[in-house]
Amino acid sequence: MKADIHSFESLAALDGEGLRYAVFFTGCPLRCVCCHNPDTWFASGREYESAELYSKLRRYKTYFGNGGGVTFSGGEPLLNAEFINETAALLRADGIGYALDTSGAAAVTDAVKKAVDNADMVILDVKYPDARRYEKYTKGDFDTFVKFADYISDTKKRVWFRTVIIPGINDSFQAADEYLRLIGRWNKPERYELLAFHTMGFYKYERMGMENPLKNTPPLKADRLIEMQAYFDAKLK
Ligand code: SF4
Repeated sequence: MKADIHSFESLAALDGEGLRYAVFFTGCPLRCVCCHNPDTWFASGREYESAELYSKLRRYKTYFGNGGGVTFSGGEPLLNAEFINETAALLRADGIGYALDTSGAAAVTDAVKKAVDNADMVILDVKYPDARRYEKYTKGDFDTFVKFADYISDTKKRVWFRTVIIPGINDSFQAADEYLRLIGRWNKPERYELLAFHTMGFYKYERMGMENPLKNTPPLKADRLIEMQAYFDAKLK
């Protein structure tokens, strides 16, 4: 089985615990206004067979150490759930685990369940706290996301939540309360990490001749991120 892969990042410490090797798949069902990787939406033209990808990943085995491993990211990795399962079987036989870094914009099919069940952990983007904003700012289906998060919670999978905080959209304490109300229906995450909206990917929209919906939005100030993270942390204690 083959999958189109956009890029790799070696020893990415941010995409899961320990030292990691991140695999970024192409393709995403969402169109987040804050996306800083719109180039992952389209096929890169570089396809890998699962055995070929496994051979590449296993070279990093000695770096992973305790708690590290591969992170399947994107785009949306779960568009390639069957490919992940095939690659993961090879990795598992070699003692290498993986994390899934997903938006949760995936129907809970048997292949998706298997990819989740076999993952060491899931990093799940909680994009927006209700259907109106989710659909407005991602063009995705909120119900699909909620069902995916329900599955993560029902199976007691280890999970970190992640939300990008964007000035003028979700940078208020009122918005924070709405996120906290939503996630209250699920098991408590090990972490809830807030990320600051930034403009470092703006050049990609220009280069690709695409409209950038947030071109007039400034980066989130560091102070505001710290305040909001402290607010979330205090509420989740
Ligand atoms: S889910 Fe990620 S890759 Fe897809 S549009 Fe949103 S930010 Fe971009």
